Amino acid sequence: LEFEDFVLKRDLLKGIHAAGFEKPSPIQEETIPVALTGRDILARAKNGTGKTAAFIIPTLEKIEPEKQKTQALILVPTRELALQTSQVCKTLGQHLGINVMVTTGGTGLKDDIIRLHDTVHIIVGTPGRIADLARKEVVKLDECTTFVMDEADKLLSPEFTPTIEQLLGFHPKERQVMLFSATFPIIVKSFKDKYMTNPYEINL
Ligand code: AMP
Repeated sequence: LEFEDFVLKRDLLKGIHAAGFEKPSPIQEETIPVALTGRDILARAKNGTGKTAAFIIPTLEKIEPEKQKTQALILVPTRELALQTSQVCKTLGQHLGINVMVTTGGTGLKDDIIRLHDTVHIIVGTPGRIADLARKEVVKLDECTTFVMDEADKLLSPEFTPTIEQLLGFHPKERQVMLFSATFPIIVKSFKDKYMTNPYEINL
């Protein structure tokens, strides 16, 4: 199977080749075609499998760059992972005219507010700061139809979970949820039952 076998924009395929990817990894083969249909995804995936591109490629495909709205939110547990993930978005999406913003705690809130004066199509970050910006209505998620959680087992801690649930409340009802996790503790299972619709489960 080749990336060309998926129905992807030419400019996205250019970004995939620029990243040096020749063939989809097993998790990408399984995730990308289903995610492109809009179905929810629940994947058990470790680091090093290509899971980041597995959710970023369908996310980039769905974004409409001419629409001046935040269309995807990618939640991760740490600042380091947020920076890495946004870098993958920028590399793969380099020919698409898509703006990506990273926001995590520990930097000035004002800087985030200024950066949000421009259209940000994709936000990557940790839950606390994004929820703060959403409550202040600096970030508007009313047309944000893609919601991704990477390392969900770490994200869905008793500390983060109420914030994540609050964030979901800002999203439209018709949204696609993609959840990637190395393990499936009860808190992840109950999140699935509460917030996901008939998810396609991937277990590699
Ligand atoms: P991840 O599991 O997302 O952390 O990715 C692990 C590494 O695999 C990263 O360095 C990616 O750049 C690389 N990678 C992801 N997908 C592919 C692919 N289809 N072909 C070659 N390398 C890839």
